[in-house]
Amino acid sequence: MKEVKIPISCPSCNGKMYSVGYDAPWKVLKHRSWQVCYECGFERSSDDFKKTLFIE
Ligand SMILES: [Zn+2]
Repeated sequence: MKEVKIPISCPSCNGKMYSVGYDAPWKVLKHRSWQVCYECGFERSSDDFKKTLFIE
């Protein structure tokens, strides 16, 4: 697991968020990553975030 600070504000409390991800140990599993807020614990998957960007 790796944790990366990202310059994105939490949509819930406007706090700082970080991105967490891990590489799947087997090829059959997808690489997963998601974003978590330091302040309130809000979580969203990176896929959801990309959809949001696409809509805007
Ligand atoms: Zn938050």
